[in-house]
Amino acid sequence: MNTTTLERITPFVNEPIKDFKNPTDAAAMEAALAAVKRTFGKAYPLIVNGEAIETEKKIRSIDPAHPSEVIGIVSSASRETAMRAIDVAAHTFESWRKTPADERASYLFKAAALLRERRFHYDALLVYEVGKSWVEADADMAEAIDFLEFYAREALRYAGPQPITPVAGERNEMVYIPLGVGAVIPPWNFACAIMVGMASAAIVTGNTVVLKPSSDSAVIAAWFVDLMHEVGLPKGVLNFIPGSGSEIGDPIVAHPKVRFISFTGSKETGLHINELAAKTAPGQKWIKRVVAEMGGKDSIVVAGDADVDAAVEAVAVSAFGFQGQKCSACSRAIVDASIYDAFVAKLVARVGMITVGDPADPKNYMGPVVNEAALKSISEYIEIGKKEGRLVAGGKRVGSEGFFLEPTVIADVDPAARISQEEIFGPVLAVIKARDYEHAMEIANNTEFGLTGSVYTTDEQKIERAREDFFVGNLYFNRKSTGALVGVHPFGGFNMSGTDSKAGGRDYLLLFLQAKSMSRKL
Ligand code: NAD
Repeated sequence: MNTTTLERITPFVNEPIKDFKNPTDAAAMEAALAAVKRTFGKAYPLIVNGEAIETEKKIRSIDPAHPSEVIGIVSSASRETAMRAIDVAAHTFESWRKTPADERASYLFKAAALLRERRFHYDALLVYEVGKSWVEADADMAEAIDFLEFYAREALRYAGPQPITPVAGERNEMVYIPLGVGAVIPPWNFACAIMVGMASAAIVTGNTVVLKPSSDSAVIAAWFVDLMHEVGLPKGVLNFIPGSGSEIGDPIVAHPKVRFISFTGSKETGLHINELAAKTAPGQKWIKRVVAEMGGKDSIVVAGDADVDAAVEAVAVSAFGFQGQKCSACSRAIVDASIYDAFVAKLVARVGMITVGDPADPKNYMGPVVNEAALKSISEYIEIGKKEGRLVAGGKRVGSEGFFLEPTVIADVDPAARISQEEIFGPVLAVIKARDYEHAMEIANNTEFGLTGSVYTTDEQKIERAREDFFVGNLYFNRKSTGALVGVHPFGGFNMSGTDSKAGGRDYLLLFLQAKSMSRKL
């Protein structure tokens, strides 16, 4: 990496989120929604070695607000095509690994620039494909741009000279080299950001990729793969093989030429992948590396001395933003007994103000949950919750067309109850009464997860206690538990929340690299 290239690159800054109160941005968004609607029903092929492949089997990506609307019809890879994509990626790796880091980074910089230009169209697609509100969609896009900008700079840093101790009589160096073929398997919830972050991190470090997106968000992934080819990414580096997780997921993970798996999704799938990847296939020459970021059961602790109004606001936004379908969403409010009744009353009033409906209309704060299976499973948890606690808000489906649910609050929940322990991944919040702060900390750590958490308190000693003992990868004080920013809040959880990869942090790219140490006698 030559130093002049590095000097030209400005320090990383986060992409600002659009303010849709600005009439120009609002008009641009309305126009984009209309334009994207005109693309509904379009066919999207697989992309292997830069070639478009149509298959007979299709994935129909639908609008969860209007399930009869088909956003796109995406070809679904057969096992054979998925295996061919891995062969292509293995072949392409031999040239891509030797491509200079600044050239690899340049594709990410160019992609970020194009995403900025097409921002409202991508926003609109997220509104339709996964039911995000305008603001949530734009935050997803800002994060996608941030990942590209951040990882491009990080790749240049890792390609630069690495500090080692000098010794007389030898010239020594340590360089970071890529791993090989990576299977990149993202979830649907940050449909653009996480998919772009995981794929771009693997690519910019010199690996080649087979990308298997979630079937609920396959169209936005198809748009991104097209965009990467438009900016000139060599064919074969990023291969696009949508398909059913259960059908092609296992053969991809088990393939002997796959060197690593980068996964984000549920605990169940993550553990299954981890187990399968640990088995050595005939002809396999390495121990596969698995990066698995998984579920959460995130708590906001409200101490007796907290600003109750601020805590209520943070809990409502963290629990119900994007219908509670964020791994960082607050699904448990753990509230000190001394303020519990006041907190619950204020929370119920605040939740009553949340609007639910088609997210294409910006007056709606909450849109639909992602699909019919989610609607069913969340509704089942609401029924369980009604027995495990006191339903104080919501609890019902809204309308009969889309997959809409009311924001639901269940109070007086026992810390060991199922709705306090299991990830629901929807707009359902359990409120739990704690005897005191000690008890609150104990409850906060009583799940198998350890992703995000937040504490509302004005007491420095309580903050110190949580710093030491609240066992989560991302801990916040006097702010919401969602909204981690690239570079600012490196993201990843402990325990069954995953491998703590800290996406958007300085250590992240190391997961896609291995170090080679070289010594020459002088
Ligand atoms: P999921 O586990 O159902 O699916 C994730 C991905 O795995 C999808 O692309 C799916 O097609 C694929 N898949 C399914 N079975 C597979 C198999 N056998 N082999 C290979 N791939 C397979 O999760 P989801 O519903 O898409 O996402 C929601 C989950 O993701 C929640 O649990 C949420 O907490 C978690 N999540 C975690 C983070 C984090 O950073 N920790 C971020 C976002 C989402």
